[in-house]
Amino acid sequence: MVNLARDGVRAMTGSHSPLDEFARIDRFFAPLTQNAPGAFGLGDDGALLPAVPDGRRWVVTTDALVADVHFLADDPADLVARKALRVNLSDLAAMGAEPVGYTLALALPRDFADTETWLSGFAAGLARDQASFGIALYGGDSVSTRGPLWISVTAFGTVLESGVFRRSGATVGDELWVSGTIGDAALGLKVLTGDIAGEHPGLIDRYRLPWPRLALARELSGLVSACLDVSDGLVQDAGHIARRSAVRIVLDGAALPLSTEATALVDSAAALRHSVLAGGDDYELLFTARPDAADAIRKAGRRADTPVTRIGRIDPGEGVVVLDAEGRPMEGLEHAGWRHFEA
Ligand SMILES: [Mg+2]
Repeated sequence: MVNLARDGVRAMTGSHSPLDEFARIDRFFAPLTQNAPGAFGLGDDGALLPAVPDGRRWVVTTDALVADVHFLADDPADLVARKALRVNLSDLAAMGAEPVGYTLALALPRDFADTETWLSGFAAGLARDQASFGIALYGGDSVSTRGPLWISVTAFGTVLESGVFRRSGATVGDELWVSGTIGDAALGLKVLTGDIAGEHPGLIDRYRLPWPRLALARELSGLVSACLDVSDGLVQDAGHIARRSAVRIVLDGAALPLSTEATALVDSAAALRHSVLAGGDDYELLFTARPDAADAIRKAGRRADTPVTRIGRIDPGEGVVVLDAEGRPMEGLEHAGWRHFEA
């Protein structure tokens, strides 16, 4: 039955021959399981996860990336691999979790000019970030497709059961914080697509290669009341906390942390402020905390070598309002950001 099912899938997708597939697994992916003894070198039908330490629980998250939706089809393969990993690691950080490993599903276009070269770069990118973040590959699958390149990563980690970050914990009187800077990735995408002229390598880097805030999440343990990672746009993601926590979020637009490059662009074209607020791909942590935790949060940011900025407050009510420098609500942000299914 298993073979019939596999043959059926091949017939539907026009997949490569079994020999190709096994050779590719051995060459590109089996080496990535070196630090995952339970993966058995990808030679079995499944993998064993390590034991969870006392008091901890598994956290699991999946993010799929589609060419020309979540990255550009001609982005370098190693950077695409690292982005696919990092957006998942960012979700683990948002839950307060420590990453352990991941599984991977790939749909490779049949008309790829040179699949082996692309896979070689892709695997090199995975290897590099596995070393950076102390994780390993536990399994995966690849198929070929008539559609666009498609990558799905499922990452898993562990969290102290009593310390998991949720979106639902914000209460009235809390303050709203964000890590790093906001808007660089959205502006970087506009540079790549030609909507913003000029050389902005720093912004392009932020679009292609997010930095998951795992170190900050570790230091914030016990300090935050609600947390998520900003992937769909600051305003929309703030809306997720507002809805899950049944509160109103008041964002101080003048307090938003912008990089020097983003500040220069926004100053030159006011319309770009909307991209900063709604653009997405920031992969920064947006979190709430009691006002008396402010000093401890600043210290946590210093220990994690990650800037943290207080950008708003939690009021009774619902929704998100962004105040401008004069304290007036900004218009036109009601439908800001991407819409997609929440995990
Ligand atoms: Mg997320």
